[in-house]
Amino acid sequence: MQKSIERIAGDSQGVSYEFPVFRFEGTDKAAPSAYLQAALHAGELPGVVAIDALMPMLEKAEAEGRIKGSITVVPQANPIGRAQYHFGEHQGRFHLGTRTNFNRGFPLLAAPDVELLPDTTLGTADQRLKTRLLQLSIGHDIVLDLHCDDDGLAYLYVHASLWPAMADCAAAMGVDAVILWDEDTDGTFEGASITPYLNLPAEVARFDRRVATTVEYRGILDVDGALAGADAEGLYRLLVARGVVQDQALSTPGSFIGLVAPLENIDMMPAPRAGAVLYKVKPGDHVAEGALLATIVHAPGEAGGRTQLFAPQAGIILTRRSRRIIRAGEDLLKLVGDRKSADARSGTLED
Ligand SMILES: [Zn+2]
Repeated sequence: MQKSIERIAGDSQGVSYEFPVFRFEGTDKAAPSAYLQAALHAGELPGVVAIDALMPMLEKAEAEGRIKGSITVVPQANPIGRAQYHFGEHQGRFHLGTRTNFNRGFPLLAAPDVELLPDTTLGTADQRLKTRLLQLSIGHDIVLDLHCDDDGLAYLYVHASLWPAMADCAAAMGVDAVILWDEDTDGTFEGASITPYLNLPAEVARFDRRVATTVEYRGILDVDGALAGADAEGLYRLLVARGVVQDQALSTPGSFIGLVAPLENIDMMPAPRAGAVLYKVKPGDHVAEGALLATIVHAPGEAGGRTQLFAPQAGIILTRRSRRIIRAGEDLLKLVGDRKSADARSGTLED
């Protein structure tokens, strides 16, 4: 395993950022290669600790000559976001300098060719970081971007072209749900990882062996040793199932038994009022149409000071807010139903 340090110059004099990259060399050129990164949204740490638990497993496999495909690991992909504190609160989702989401604005290339990327010396620091991350990841057969939600189940975003071919990965990782999407106009990292292949002939795109996914490892507070160990084993099982790592002691994953739904089936449930949220449901709950989801206390102690929200359709609660203060119009939760949401915003990748 080789460790190298990537450096991103800051936008002002005297500032620069760095992050380590770990590379395992594969012994079989024909084996699929993998790229894993975590904490692109810099405060989302479940994937960071999962990688921390995964690394000794990969080092053991390397010592035993079982790494077949090359593996590149970036445990903390966003040193810019990691350093952003605003009045004591960490801000890892948006770049404060440009107000841009760190998981938007990646170049959507027409082909998987790093030569098509912008010059890595141009643009603001966050843009240069994005270009560099794509440079590191493009060309790998398997690209995993580890995130987490606010409070939620473990689930994957997967482009429709990769499903059901990626069902073995979802089963190997042991996630609860898979959300399928088909168009990314905002340039998420996942979108930038799969879009270059969409217009290639099937025999070149190789969707049968390609993996690109945003992994949502539950909630922001689910940074936990036992979960990290289980998630590391899930990542390892995926790498073994896809032939990147050899491990005869592991059996092939069974079929995926979790929820699979298109993005358009998600109801985001915007809050009609500002106030304090009393949730009636939590991630994983099954709800019937018309079931009470949450009560917003907007005028405490007054008659009519509470507003209730009901399920627009039957489904499963995928996520909810970790905080209980809400503004009018902010999304209260994600409900995955059996049919298309009436919410006009559904259909866009929401990580
Ligand atoms: Zn995220």
